[in-house]
Amino acid sequence: MAVTAIKRLNRDRPIRATALAGNGIGRHSLLFEIGKRKILIDPGNQSNGMVKLCQPDIILLTHAHADHVGNLIEVYKKNPKVRIYATAPTKAIVEQVFGLSDQDQPHLVEECLDRIRAVPYQKEFHLGRNIYARLIPAGHILGSASIIITAPEGNFLITGDFAAQPRGVLAPFRLPDMNLRALITEGSLVGVSELPEPEAEKQRFFELIGRTIARERSVVVATEPYGVFNEFALLLSRWQDDAAPHRFQIFINQYLKNAFTSYLDHKEFSDLWLEGDPEAYTSAYLVMEPFGRKANFKEIGPFCYFAGPGSLRREFPRRVVGQILSAGGQLIVDGRFSKSSVQKRIGKRNLSADWSSRTALFHVFNHITGPELKSLILEVARPTYLMHGSPAKLKRFAAEEDFNGRVSVLGLREQIVL
Ligand SMILES: [Zn+2]
Ligand SMILES: [Zn+2]
Repeated sequence: MAVTAIKRLNRDRPIRATALAGNGIGRHSLLFEIGKRKILIDPGNQSNGMVKLCQPDIILLTHAHADHVGNLIEVYKKNPKVRIYATAPTKAIVEQVFGLSDQDQPHLVEECLDRIRAVPYQKEFHLGRNIYARLIPAGHILGSASIIITAPEGNFLITGDFAAQPRGVLAPFRLPDMNLRALITEGSLVGVSELPEPEAEKQRFFELIGRTIARERSVVVATEPYGVFNEFALLLSRWQDDAAPHRFQIFINQYLKNAFTSYLDHKEFSDLWLEGDPEAYTSAYLVMEPFGRKANFKEIGPFCYFAGPGSLRREFPRRVVGQILSAGGQLIVDGRFSKSSVQKRIGKRNLSADWSSRTALFHVFNHITGPELKSLILEVARPTYLMHGSPAKLKRFAAEEDFNGRVSVLGLREQIVL
C-alpha cells in the first residue's frame, strides 16, 4: 500500500543540517537535508564558497539582507532548476538589491528573480517527498520570516534573524503552537547587555526630527542596512500628522518607495499591523532624485531625507550631508555605523567643529535579546543549535546550566544529525 511505503521511506530518512557560513555575526547559510532533499536556507554572501557547491533542490529565503541572500544569483547559476521561495516583500527587496548592484549578467539576475515564488505568511507549501514549509513573521525587517519545516519525522524551526519585541510596524516573532523536534536559532545579541528599549529610542528619534524641523533645519537619516530606520520612515508621516509641531517634507529614494509599496500592497500586512488606510503611509513621501550640482536646499525648506539602504556612495552623498550640516541641520545615523565611518562619509571638508553635536547615533535592535532567547529555548525544550552570533558569546550562552546540555553551537561546516 502506498501510504505504508511512504511511512517506511520516511522512517529511515536521515535529517541533517550543515552551517555553510559558520556562526559569526553576518553569516547565515544553512543546508537542511531530509533524505535526498536538499533545502538551502539563505544563500548568504559570506559562506566561504561552500554555498556555491551545495546543489540544492530548493532555496528558502528568510529575508533580504546580503548575509542571507548575497549568493543567490551564484547558486541559481549552477542550479537553474532550483525552486526559490520567499515572502512577497522579501522578493521585492531582493529584486531591488540585485537590481541596484552592479552585475555583468543582467539576464541571469532577471531569470533568477523570476523564479522566486512569493508565499504568504502562515501558508504551508509542499517541498516534495512529504516535506512542507511554512513562513511565519520574524519581526526583523519588512518581509522577514522564520521557517518551519514539517515532515513525518517532525517539525523543525529555523528562526533566521528575528525579534520578539514589537516596534510598531512589523508583527513580532511568536513561537508557533506545535511540538518541535529541533530549534535552529540565531543569537546575534546573546551576551550583549544594556540594550535601549526600542519604543523609547523610537520616540527619541521622532522628537529629534521634530525639534530640528521646528528650528527650520533639515534632517538626513543614514540607514544601512535595510532595517529599523526604514520602518521608522514608514511611520513618520503618521507621527507628523499627530505630533510634529510643524509640517515638513519627507524624502525617500525610489528603492525605499518600492519596498514600502510592495509591503503595503499585501493586505495581510496592512490589515494586521497598520492602523487606518495604507495609502496614508505612503502618500506623504516624496521620492528624492539625486541632487544636481547646484541644488539649493533652502528652496526646498526644512525636510527629512532617509538615505539608503542602497549603495552608500549613491544614497549618502557627502555633498548632501555636508550642506545640510553646515546649514545647521541634523544627521541621524544607524548605531551600527561607527562615528569614524560617518566622519569618513561626510568628508573632511564638510566637517565643521561641531559636526559631532549635530550627529546622533541611534541604537535600535531588531534581533532577539539574550534573555528572550533563553526563555524561548526553555519553552521549546528540544535540542537547540545556535548560529549567527559571536562564537565566544554563543558558546558561553550554550553552556548555561538551565539548558542541561541541550544547546550547542553550530560551527562552520559542522554537520549535525537531527
Ligand atoms: Zn543576518
Ligand atoms: Zn538580517
